[in-house]
Amino acid sequence: MAKRKPKKAGRKKIAKRRTVPRCGLCGKTGNLTKTECCDQWICDDEDQYVIFSYARNSCYRNHSRYTLCGYHYNEDHQGDWKTCAKCREDFESELEMYVESGTNEYNFEKLENPPDYDPTKCNKCGRIIVLSEGGYSQRADEYWCPECTDSKFPKGIFG
Ligand SMILES: [Zn+2]
Ligand SMILES: [Zn+2]
Ligand SMILES: [Zn+2]
Ligand SMILES: [Zn+2]
Repeated sequence: MAKRKPKKAGRKKIAKRRTVPRCGLCGKTGNLTKTECCDQWICDDEDQYVIFSYARNSCYRNHSRYTLCGYHYNEDHQGDWKTCAKCREDFESELEMYVESGTNEYNFEKLENPPDYDPTKCNKCGRIIVLSEGGYSQRADEYWCPECTDSKFPKGIFG
């Protein structure tokens, strides 16, 4: 795709207020609702979620389940989730999940200054494990990457 120069000048005049609301995550129109947590337009699609499927095809669910914004709201915290000390505390031992939940694609607004965290490494091979991608296994404080998990438990014992 060719990069276009952003036209800033004169934009104000052209920009009319959009009257058609769009889902803030996928941009669809129609069958929308507002998020309870942050009052943004979003697909009203939670009923399409198939239980135990772990599918991430519902904008509504993705936002309320996989973001700090949703977490913050569901836990009844006060104030802005981006500066919430409670959220931060709750994820103290899993900072990676905190950063992921605050910066993933299901957010309308992202964490501006996500804290640094030590990546989780496989206790067997030392590879970095991306927690949000799943497939790894955890016992006590040991983490195994998906590859090591598969080679040790080929029949998917954890599944
Ligand atoms: Zn959507
Ligand atoms: Zn929200
Ligand atoms: Zn919070
Ligand atoms: Zn490994």
